[in-house]
Amino acid sequence: MEKGKIISHSRPCISDEDISKVAEVVASGRLADSSQVGLFEKELSAYIGQKGGIATNSGTNALHLALSSIPFNHGSEAIIPSYVCIAVLNAVICAGLHPVMVDIAERGFNISLEDIEKKLNRRTRAIIVPHMLGDPVETIDEIVALGVPVIEDCALSVGATRFGKKLGSYSDTSIFSFYATKMLATGQGGMVLSRSARTLEDIRDMMVYDNRKSYRKSYNFRMTDMQAALGRSQLARLDDFIGRRRKIASQYHYAAKGRVELPYRPSESVFFRYVMLVDDPDSFIKEMLSQGIDCRRPVFKPLHQYFHLPADEFPNTERMYSRSVSIPLYPALKDEEVEHIVRVLQEL
Ligand SMILES: *Cc1c(COP(=O)(O)O)cnc(C)c1O
Repeated sequence: MEKGKIISHSRPCISDEDISKVAEVVASGRLADSSQVGLFEKELSAYIGQKGGIATNSGTNALHLALSSIPFNHGSEAIIPSYVCIAVLNAVICAGLHPVMVDIAERGFNISLEDIEKKLNRRTRAIIVPHMLGDPVETIDEIVALGVPVIEDCALSVGATRFGKKLGSYSDTSIFSFYATKMLATGQGGMVLSRSARTLEDIRDMMVYDNRKSYRKSYNFRMTDMQAALGRSQLARLDDFIGRRRKIASQYHYAAKGRVELPYRPSESVFFRYVMLVDDPDSFIKEMLSQGIDCRRPVFKPLHQYFHLPADEFPNTERMYSRSVSIPLYPALKDEEVEHIVRVLQEL
């Protein structure tokens, strides 16, 4: 490791092949005729095991569209966990639903089935289930069985499985993000997948605004072909990315075990983040930065805190938020960077 160099908290994994695929589209002059977009939709839906997909310009807007395909009226509610990024809350509010926040489970980072059951009522029209930090929600079957439309949020878990079945294929409709820091990067971007032909048709119709016979409130949420070309090229390497993430995670695990508290991570995680539990995340982050390692809290601020909801309704979220730090883990890490992080962990 060069002295004074900082290992960034995330960095996309861009190959020469990625660059030439994007350059081909740019050179063709067909920047938005959707030929690459159509192929990306086919390839991701086949990879996940859903009927079809609709690419979007962000994960937030993918969720907005997925929610808009569910019938609801004024006062209808969507259940979301409090321990998640604010994009989820924004999509719920922009789609016109009332957000109802629930706690995460006693162990791990994922939504609590018990708290969903507590807050479920006749106004609930959707349950958004993020597979946080690459970890499959272990109660996904039970949540789907509640009978309310479930949208799996796979923004942080593309390619992860539960019992060998890909996340994003448990619920009828699921969403993905390809923001620059995610498992697959297209800069900005997202996708809705669904097993329902009607949902796919409806969402596609919401994205058509030109040359309509009759008016419908519709959205320009489309992905460009440059982004789709990058997404396709990245998807071809996703399984390698996941393999590399798991290998680095196990190196960190053996280095940190016994020195620092490690959270429960379900098997089949793709380790979007490697998280450790410390008493004072802010001073830990400062300390790690002085050693050339940029660490972050995995979630900036739990959602219930924006609304000043009582902390004691979200004990697990509060505990995880107050103790979690994420250290750099991504396939673009160089071996020497991993070795440096491992050495620092061994000295904790
Ligand atoms: C990033 C993210 C989103 C939103 O995706 P964008 O592409 O940034 O709009 C939604 N849900 C989760 C869990 C995310 O991490």
